[in-house]
Formats: sequence, C-alpha cells, structure tokens
Amino acid sequence: MRKPCNFLATRRAVRAIVAGGIFLCCTVLIEAKTIVQCGTLIDGVSEQPRKEVSVVIDNGKIVDVVAGFANADASDTIIDQRNATVLPGLMDMHTHLTQEFSPTVYSEQLFMNPADFALRATVYARRTLEAGFTTVRDVGDIDNVSIALRNAINKGLVVGPRIFTSAKSIATTGGHADPTNGWALRFQGDPGPKEGVINSPDDARKAVRQRYKDGADLIKITITGGVLSLAANGQNPQFTEDEVRAIVETAKDYGFIVAVHAHGAEGMKRAIRAGVTSIEHGTYMDDEAMNLMKERGTWYVPTIIAGRYTADKAKEAGFYPEIVRPKALAIGPVIQSTFAKAYQAGVKIAFGTDAGVYPHGQNAQEFVYMHEGGMPPMQCIQAATIQAARLLKKEADLGSVEKGKAADLIAVKGDPLADIAVLKQVAFVMKAGVVYKQ
Ligand SMILES: [Zn+2]
Repeated sequence: MRKPCNFLATRRAVRAIVAGGIFLCCTVLIEAKTIVQCGTLIDGVSEQPRKEVSVVIDNGKIVDVVAGFANADASDTIIDQRNATVLPGLMDMHTHLTQEFSPTVYSEQLFMNPADFALRATVYARRTLEAGFTTVRDVGDIDNVSIALRNAINKGLVVGPRIFTSAKSIATTGGHADPTNGWALRFQGDPGPKEGVINSPDDARKAVRQRYKDGADLIKITITGGVLSLAANGQNPQFTEDEVRAIVETAKDYGFIVAVHAHGAEGMKRAIRAGVTSIEHGTYMDDEAMNLMKERGTWYVPTIIAGRYTADKAKEAGFYPEIVRPKALAIGPVIQSTFAKAYQAGVKIAFGTDAGVYPHGQNAQEFVYMHEGGMPPMQCIQAATIQAARLLKKEADLGSVEKGKAADLIAVKGDPLADIAVLKQVAFVMKAGVVYKQ
C-alpha cells in the first residue's frame, strides 16, 4: 500500500525509499507486510489443498495469496510455515465462555459475582484462541458477561477469539434457560424478558429488543427442554409457535440471526417453520425436520462432543444432580448418529461444540467425532471455516484464506486431510494479523 510522505505514521513500520543516499521527501513510504509461507494451504473454500503458497498480510487483512514462497522486503516479517499445513482460523458456533461444568457449577451463582465470571472467562477465552479457534459464537451467558468479554477482546485488553454473542439466552418459565430453574421458591423471583424468560409474543419481542439494547450480536432461544437444566424433561417443546415467530420477526428488524437449542423434534419443527437460522444439538431430528431444514436453508450445529462428554460424566456418581443424569445418559449418545443422518441427508452443517459443557480448549475433538460420523476431513474443516462464516453472514470477512478477508490463520504439523486429529495440536495462531501462538 502506498501512502504520501508522512513521518508521523508510527503505528506501523515503514520503509523509506532511499535514492542516492538521500531521502526523497514526498516520494513514498512502503508499509511493512507480513508474509506467511505455507508448505500446504487449505484455504477453506477450495476442494484441494495448495502446495507452496504465500499469504501476504497488511493491516490485519489478507492482501494477496500467491504461488511460491514470496520474497520479502527487508522490513517485511516472514513467518516460516513451509513444513506445516496452514488453514483459516477455526470457528466454533456454539460455546459458553462464561462457564465450565463441574459438580459445583449449579451453586456458583451463589458465590460468584459477574466480575468473578468475567475474570475466569478471560482464561477460557485465551485457551480457546490458543486451540486455534479465532472466532466463536457465545450462545448463552449470565449478566451480559460475554458482551463485556467481547468488548475487552476487541479493544485488545484481553486475549481471546473474536466473539459473536447472544448474551443471555431466551427461555419460557421453567424452560431450559430459565435462570432460576430448580431453585427454592423463595429465591426464584419472577424473571421476565430482561432476564431471558418470556411467556407471550409480546414478551418475546421485548426480550429481543432488550438484547439489542444490551449490545448482543444474535439471539439464542431454548425451544425444548435440555440436558443440564434442573428440570425433568430434556426434549419437550417449550415455546408456542406464535412465540417463536415473534422472536424471529423481531430479530429480523435488528439484523439478528436466531440460534435455537433443540433436542425434541416437535419444538425443532416449530422453530424451523418460523424461520430460525440454526438448530443446535438437534438430537431427535426426524426425516420431516431434516426435509424442512433443507427446504428453509436452516443450519445444523451438532455439538457431538457435548453429547458424548455428558453421557460419560453421567456415569460418575455425583458429577451431575440426579435430575440431570438420566437425561444425559439418554440424549448424549444420540447426537453423533443424528449428525451422521443429517449429513447423509444433505442438511447444511456448521461446526459447534457447546464448549463449557466440556472443558474449554478441547473444541477440536469435535472434528474427530464428525469424521467418525461419516464426514470427509475437507468438509469437516469447511464446516468450521467458510460454512460457519456463512451461518454468521460474515463470509465477506471471515472463513477462508482469500484476498480481502481478516488475516485469521492457524498452522498444524502434519496433514489434517490424512488425520483430522492433528487439528487438536495447533502450533500457530494468528488473528487479524496478530500472532498469538508460535
Ligand atoms: Zn449450549
């Protein structure tokens, strides 16, 4: 990029063109670039990897992708990944950065303030970025902590992935994300739209508008029962169709996509018919639901790892409350086979894990489970890159290594197309042109 002479341009390194040992005032200053030399590049959109490619980065963006190992000016930074496979930064469409399950998680709110949750979340955010996930959706927090975390990361105060957050998810009374589920009556109060509990289309509209006011990026609703809430049913429908329609119509006014937690088929179908963006978990998705999703272009975000993890942990006495255990044992193991059916049926799939239900940073294990479920490695990678970007409607900026997009890159030793598990060992992480792991 050429700029007129400006010696105050101290933010980025500049190199003066010198002629005959004399500065030619008002000639040009050429900004230093970063060049990532890639032994192999999987760019997120091409079906085949490319060998010996250089990615040229300036000001946080990819300005060129060129064949061969590009030569650099003296002031440029070369990042040598000639013995590695470079990929777009990974994107997890279902995380909860403000929590991590343990046997004490249900009582944390009695002992922890929002500041405690926020500080702990910075640790999970860093762990997630260092695992290669440069972008995540956070689909459910408390006290808008994920909004503060997103803002602190965007300002460079805290290290973490780029976050798109729903903030507090929206439920109905006693529903999966009712924040006082299972509490003694004297503590319950009467949570409403502000706290993410609705009981009418009017409440639904108010809850969406409150999230706009709070600074959320998207809307998340829990249309059916769930595994880890302190409630008996893990899959019953919990919104009427007019309530979910009110959510979707209002979300559209504010440019929000709508993510929907769903295990049971009936709730799922109400959501799909109402025009939501994605179904999360989707455990008991039947053929009718899959056909509806294909018809409407609804995304599926499977979270296989969360299902398997909760089913395993439910076998340990005392890890979950007794009301949770049978749900985890029944629902957890089903998700992987649902994923396999949905993939075969041609439902659009974006990568998501429910991080926080299992320990943060292990997100890439989902790739192994997706591959076991029948998805070829290249499609698993695309689900976590370009497909995730499309789900977010951010494909102009994110999701692939192409000119004009954010310089979000990772590198692994080995070939993820031969062994998808190498994505669990990310050796290099760059987000928006800044290196966070090398
Ligand atoms: Zn979740």
